[in-house]
Amino acid sequence: MTLVCLTNDIPNLRSCTVRDQHQAHCNGFAWRYDRALEIDMPTNDECTGCLPRQAEHGLLCWSCWMRVTEAWSKAHDMITHLRSVDRAQQIDNGGVRADPGWVIPVPITWRMADELIMLLGHPAPGFPSDAVVEEIDVITERFIDDLDPEVWVSRPAGAEDALRFVVLMQTAIAGHPMDDREHRVVNVRCPECRLKALLWKPPLEAGDELDVTCTNCGYEMDHNRYEAVMTLQRLEPKTRKEA
Ligand SMILES: [Zn+2]
Ligand SMILES: [Zn+2]
Ligand SMILES: [Zn+2]
Repeated sequence: MTLVCLTNDIPNLRSCTVRDQHQAHCNGFAWRYDRALEIDMPTNDECTGCLPRQAEHGLLCWSCWMRVTEAWSKAHDMITHLRSVDRAQQIDNGGVRADPGWVIPVPITWRMADELIMLLGHPAPGFPSDAVVEEIDVITERFIDDLDPEVWVSRPAGAEDALRFVVLMQTAIAGHPMDDREHRVVNVRCPECRLKALLWKPPLEAGDELDVTCTNCGYEMDHNRYEAVMTLQRLEPKTRKEA
């Protein structure tokens, strides 16, 4: 019995198939996973190939295996990058910690780093919340060292984690390139609540707008508004007492 690539058994992942080759029951129309209904639904699109690709490396096809090794090779850099957002913020603040009574929401990037390290075998809920960048680095390295990708993709649970890991890494790479990181805005106040609590977020996908959000009152701005606010505040007399 030959095994097919595990993507064919996981409903919300795109199945790996052979182009122009079809299963016996194919009627010429493609099926697609419907996220709302959580099942595969027939479409009016021509089927471009529905014969499952064979598992050639553990439980994965060759191209899935290549994507796993690719994601694997970038994992250490990406995970530490996702967690370094906090350090960047502290440097921006001149090393001064925010008022302890002021609750800073956990950045999305931290949750992504937690999910990635959990897929690599770290117990839930992920990194210790007070871990500094050096600790993140050591923990990440340990989990990467302890996990053999060959073994990972040869067991059903591991191979599924590996596939989810690839998807999440692709999201992380697309949303958080190393030079375009989310950071706290230093010198501009929120035009609504007047606190210096703005968070600058790079667009998540090409074509998306840059987003600046107030972490205190939730006020949101697009790039044009942000430019205008910056300009106005530069012109303001410095009479207001600094927070
Ligand atoms: Zn088909
Ligand atoms: Zn595959
Ligand atoms: Zn505000």
